[in-house]
Amino acid sequence: MKSTARVVVIGGGVVGCSVLYHLAKNGWTDVMLLERQELTSGSSWHAAGGLFTVVRPNAAAEMHRYTFQIYRELEEERGQPCGFHFTGGLNICRTQDEIDSNAMMQSACRRLGIEGHFISLEEAKEKAPILDTSHMIGAFWEEEGGHVDPASATNAFAAAARQMGATIHRHTPVTATTQRADGTWDVVTEKGTIHAEYIVNAAGLWGREVARMAGIELPLMPVEHHYLVTESIPLIEDLGFELPQINDNETGSYARQEGMGMLLGAYEDKMTHWAKDGTPLNFGHELLPDNLECMEWNFEKSVEIMPVLGQAGVKRVINGPMIFSPDLSPLIGPHPALRNYICANGVMAGFNQGGGIGRVLAEWIIGGEPEIDIFNWDVARFGKFATQKYTEDMTRYFYENRSEKVFPYQSFPAARPQAKSPVHDRLAAAGAVFGTGFGREHATWFAPEGTKAEDSLTYRQPNWWEPVAEEGRAVREAAGLFEYSDMAKFEVSGKRAAEWLDRIMANTLPKPGRLCLSPMLSDKGRVIGDFTISNLGDRYLIVGTYAMQLVFDRHFAKYLPAEDVCLRNVSDELAGLHIAGPKAQEIIAALADRDIDSASFRFMDAADMTLVGIGKVSVLRVSYTGETGYEMYLPRALQPALFDALFETGAAHGLRLCGLRALMMLRLEKSWPAWGLEITSDYNAHECGMMHHVKLDKGAFTGREAAQSYGPARERPITLTVNAGELAVWGDEAIFLNGKPVGYVSSGGWGPVTGQHIALGYVAANAYRADGTYEVELFGKLYKAQLHTQPLYDPTGSRMRG
Ligand SMILES: Cc1cc2nc3c(=O)[nH]c(=O)nc-3n(C[C@H](O)[C@H](O)[C@H](O)COP(=O)(O)OP(=O)(O)OC[C@H]3O[C@@H](n4cnc5c(N)ncnc54)[C@H](O)[C@@H]3O)c2cc1C
Repeated sequence: MKSTARVVVIGGGVVGCSVLYHLAKNGWTDVMLLERQELTSGSSWHAAGGLFTVVRPNAAAEMHRYTFQIYRELEEERGQPCGFHFTGGLNICRTQDEIDSNAMMQSACRRLGIEGHFISLEEAKEKAPILDTSHMIGAFWEEEGGHVDPASATNAFAAAARQMGATIHRHTPVTATTQRADGTWDVVTEKGTIHAEYIVNAAGLWGREVARMAGIELPLMPVEHHYLVTESIPLIEDLGFELPQINDNETGSYARQEGMGMLLGAYEDKMTHWAKDGTPLNFGHELLPDNLECMEWNFEKSVEIMPVLGQAGVKRVINGPMIFSPDLSPLIGPHPALRNYICANGVMAGFNQGGGIGRVLAEWIIGGEPEIDIFNWDVARFGKFATQKYTEDMTRYFYENRSEKVFPYQSFPAARPQAKSPVHDRLAAAGAVFGTGFGREHATWFAPEGTKAEDSLTYRQPNWWEPVAEEGRAVREAAGLFEYSDMAKFEVSGKRAAEWLDRIMANTLPKPGRLCLSPMLSDKGRVIGDFTISNLGDRYLIVGTYAMQLVFDRHFAKYLPAEDVCLRNVSDELAGLHIAGPKAQEIIAALADRDIDSASFRFMDAADMTLVGIGKVSVLRVSYTGETGYEMYLPRALQPALFDALFETGAAHGLRLCGLRALMMLRLEKSWPAWGLEITSDYNAHECGMMHHVKLDKGAFTGREAAQSYGPARERPITLTVNAGELAVWGDEAIFLNGKPVGYVSSGGWGPVTGQHIALGYVAANAYRADGTYEVELFGKLYKAQLHTQPLYDPTGSRMRG
């Protein structure tokens, strides 16, 4: 065995083998995979191998689509059989909500060219004659659906990687991983130690144990999962063609043809965790005792639509473990706390996602960054809040509720609350409906008297539609107060603070007492952060998206000098409040110990101020509402006093509590982009329309070279108003021009004072028409949409400057 390799991949399941394949395919052939037993000795050998591509969010769909294609590449170009059955897939719709959900996915998937459409019940029956369609009200056809043989597919990745020069050592368990001072790794096995630049943890069921070797905990929890295989079914024997993959999302079941019988798998409505405290090291090619009772409900529901299942004998029952992250999505990417340590863990659907994960991780390792925005799967989306208990509660909830729809803006009840703001009880008393993000509770809207303080779940206009608009109007007409702690906050100080910040931010740093907005670019010029930077004299305060804080930490650490810069993540140390509206200035003025009229404390000024009776507060004159506004950051202990003081003075001025949904609607009226929706690393600063914040002439900064040579934009951001009537526009809907899909809605909603359905989105650059009448697809129908080249509200920005 060699004693060095550029990358050591730990684990030879489908994910590890795919990572190895993609590294080799992209030219890194000095790569090695270590497997403790035979390849596929975790979840991979007993998987059902079912494939589907119509999923959300879009990045996940792209990963599924790519993986689907890669089986063709392995079979046709590399001569490696995967047992690939390209049968198409059929989604069963029993309710209108399921039809709506499929219609929305169909629209979202147009962006990627993934083909799916509704078919009649007669057509469904033709494609799958085993169906009894009397329980169905609709059927959705996925062109790219099917299944692979799990062992063949895993071995195909491995063999193709070997062909290109990668090495694989079976029966070689990794027993320790230790990091050297230069960030490289020693990977210890009984057969010797390998010195590697990077480690990839692809240890599947043992992802936690392998992570602990490097001193980190990953939020992962194994669960049991059942499927059964029936004896031959005469109806199938006589068919003469293969049945499609059949997904019955509302009953958490999936089925496909296996030989001349059927395979039926289920996300049991009562799930069982397995090996909660640690996966046994001696567990191998084994199954767990089956317990078909737990899928009784799923089975009965499946018999309703596939009666032959009830008549066929059961040939085999599989109860195998797999391992999940809290939200059941993979945990991938460089671990934020360790250099050169790449996670490829918690992969729930490895045969759908493994190819995509291999591609993205090879891009990340070789090129330093992924080519698509993969935040929804990034290991850095979970912080310390993701404890074992949290992971257990979340995996139970999402597994058992897998058959439920996911509605726009839905907040899930599991594992809550984790962390609260100091004024949480005051917000609750005022009728707040809470959401959660990165483990913290935030007020989303306030239920007026007589309205239930709970979201109604619908794809159409929910119960909070009008209350949120009313909150927005209060901000436009008087003043609104937002609890604003959910921001990522960093303090930067030290002799070289300005030099360092200037090097990683694209805008020119603000002068003392001022603030600026700045994108942060990757080496390749993608937008990977969007911040408010305030120069507070003795330090800089950097404010950005709360959920991204570990992603930012990871990026900052890459460039942080050893000395003379002190960087502190103060996201949870400082609380925040934000007041905005025409009366905001008067309200703050009553508390401030200095003049804060618009001449003394101008738009985009920032200062530490003493607020009477409160103490020192960092005040930023800026607002995401488009009104005169102030963001205030202060030690957590001081927040309740400031909250009360603002209300005491604000009452006479009509101050009203507002939730974060109102903020999101207000910024739509200003055509302001939001992180993760309009601004993502899928785009460069030019495409996001952020070049006015990128100062190419300021000297060297990360991403400058790439920004200097940006090509023509592939897509352009647009603002539309949509004639959606009683419906709602939420985001991900396809935008059409002349009957063809040319773009998508990145976020949608309702303008509080403009009273219109507003959609921000992107269209292909060659489909941009300043005078164009576009159409937006809602539930399968096209609705007229008007393009606006100016913000709908206060296009000159006089109100926020005033
Ligand atoms: C019943 C069932 C049905 C399923 N059906 C589907 C399906 O239809 N479609 C789908 O996409 N997915 C399905 N899955 C999920 C799928 O099996 C997993 O997503 C996938 O197998 C995960 O692969 P992996 O490579 O991450 O992990 P694993 O397959 O668990 O592989 C990890 C490997 O790491 C090795 N390893 C661990 N520790 C060490 C160490 N210290 N040193 C060296 N090697 C080590 C292990 O021996 C193992 O071979 C199903 C799962 C189950 C249980």
